[in-house]
Amino acid sequence: MAKIEDFNFKGKKAIVRVDFNVPLDENGNITDDTRIRGALPTLKKILSDGGSLILMSHMGKPKGKVNPKLSLAQIRDAVAKALGTDVKFAPDCAKASEAAKELKPGEVLLLENLRFYPEEEGKPVGIDKADPQYDEAKKAMKESQKEFAKTLASYADVYVNDAFGTAHRRHASTAVIAGYFDQNDKMLGFLMEKEVKAVDNILKDIKRPFTAIMGGSKVSTKIGIIENLMDKVDNLILCGGMTYTFAKAMGGNVGKSICETDKLDLALDIMKKAKEKGVNLVLGTDCVAADDFNNNANTQICSVMNIPDGWEGLDAGPDSIIAFRNVIVPAKTILWNGPAGVFEFDNFTTGSKAIADAIVEATNNGAFSLVGGGDSVACVNKFGVADSVSYVSTGGGALLEAIEGKTLPGVAAVSE
Ligand code: AMP
Repeated sequence: MAKIEDFNFKGKKAIVRVDFNVPLDENGNITDDTRIRGALPTLKKILSDGGSLILMSHMGKPKGKVNPKLSLAQIRDAVAKALGTDVKFAPDCAKASEAAKELKPGEVLLLENLRFYPEEEGKPVGIDKADPQYDEAKKAMKESQKEFAKTLASYADVYVNDAFGTAHRRHASTAVIAGYFDQNDKMLGFLMEKEVKAVDNILKDIKRPFTAIMGGSKVSTKIGIIENLMDKVDNLILCGGMTYTFAKAMGGNVGKSICETDKLDLALDIMKKAKEKGVNLVLGTDCVAADDFNNNANTQICSVMNIPDGWEGLDAGPDSIIAFRNVIVPAKTILWNGPAGVFEFDNFTTGSKAIADAIVEATNNGAFSLVGGGDSVACVNKFGVADSVSYVSTGGGALLEAIEGKTLPGVAAVSE
């Protein structure tokens, strides 16, 4: 694998897998451009060396079909503005040979959403897993995926993977494509290098106490990381929507709060494991309950064990916030994934904001703090504290899988 800092891109065409899967509002305006800004060091290095850029990314989940709402044409101007140069656009990512051939040093070509082709993800479409033909269809799709990756590879001399957000996927553009480049012509981008190093910081050389804060809506999507963290952390805060699954499992009445009733045993098992492993599990004890799922709903503070019928917990309560602070402020290593409440509603941001503030305080006292996962990133941006924590990761699933100790296909593919 080549090293981007040592590589001279002069006269080379570089195809770069970026993660431009940025959130858009209903008018197609970017609401958070963290991911575009994150890729700039790599892109600017290539251009300033005298190389040309072919940018490829996915956006959303078009499931192998063209969907104008998920067209990367919508972000072309924002990318051009960020790079300070014009950006050409290839409306079909698999038919961009001519456009790529014509690129001159310093020029930029953005390819249309890779996931408009099912080959990008490599999953057969329109056939159920239970279908006897599924395995055949999967095999055939893997072959077309290779062809698709080969086409993308043919546009360029060099491959750079700077898309940490999708590094946990073995897709055409994130991993398969790397097989069509020599060892010396493929590498990780600066953002990927930084992300990998930040995870290393959390996993190796842990300074204690280590506090992890897991929030968000569901236990089920976070169970892998929760179990893995149990072997590493001193304190584990579980907050957000997960709170109510735990409260219900302990016999509480959670009203109409978000609750995974089929995960009650899992919640009890997590509590048991934490005890066995000597992990201090911190669960919310009180909440801000609302009579409706909207910003202007009526609210009351109540115990998570006793939420009135028709009401739902949408934010952490004052006692919970104190308990969270008590294990965040003295920590020396901190990982935060997932908000403590429905932070998208301004009236339910208090818990998440208190967590962010406590993390900043600990960071100022010398802790290493890593914030990752789309929603936590949106939180630190909303509260204006992104620059006051040690590292904000652009990866959600990729970050969690890396912390679970899994090898990321996107990283492995350029190293092979
Ligand atoms: P996740 O994608 O699992 O990290 O979940 C993030 C989402 O969880 C955010 O959109 C939050 O609004 C949501 N969330 C956090 N707390 C709650 C809650 N108490 N009730 C419903 N949704 C919540």
